[in-house]
Amino acid sequence: MPHPLIALVLSMTSTLGAAPSPDLTVRYEPAGSPRAEQARKLLADSGALKTKIKLPKPVEVVARDCDEPRATWDGEERRIAICYSLVDKVRRTLTGIAQTEEADARTAAHRVDAALTVLFHHQLGHALGAMNGLPDDEGQADRFAALTLVADAPKRVIRAAEARHLLAGHAGVDHLSGPEESATFACLLYGADPAKHAPIAKGGWVPAERAPTCADEYNRAKSAIGGMTVKAGA
Ligand SMILES: [Zn+2]
Repeated sequence: MPHPLIALVLSMTSTLGAAPSPDLTVRYEPAGSPRAEQARKLLADSGALKTKIKLPKPVEVVARDCDEPRATWDGEERRIAICYSLVDKVRRTLTGIAQTEEADARTAAHRVDAALTVLFHHQLGHALGAMNGLPDDEGQADRFAALTLVADAPKRVIRAAEARHLLAGHAGVDHLSGPEESATFACLLYGADPAKHAPIAKGGWVPAERAPTCADEYNRAKSAIGGMTVKAGA
């Protein structure tokens, strides 16, 4: 039997290009309450915290208990922190909306997973911007997030636009609130492939008058920062 470390290196080499970025490590701190534990499990099961994007430097993601429901990027530590209370807030908000509109539990669960994927990719956007020497900016984090989400989680793109749209009107969902921000994010996702992502326009998550310009918006973002969102091994 090979030495465990050699086995690890072999397995990483053999799946080069397909494996998640070795530059991203994810750590879940113990949850201090049943509600936080539910959030911890939800986040872990969602599969949201992963990327195949090549990172300029290693990044750590830490999910943990915190006083405020927040998500942060710490440039000095190169650490993304996601609070269990924010995960819980996303879950409760989307579950509440689903109950109001009588959507089934499965739909609500898919939306929550997609929202957590947006949450992670937005923070990854802050990280990629900073590590590439760009000034920090919420719109820029969303442009990065749109590009990396399309590359990493193509099957979640439509749900991601929907979930962000549903969260937009709810204040205090850290980094995910705001109708304008949501419309721009939806426009970028729609613009990445207007035929495949047609439900984003049909759903009205991007305003109808803006939809025809979204492919241009996406292409502008891609030519500006697409070189910083290349998949590892590509
Ligand atoms: Zn942000």
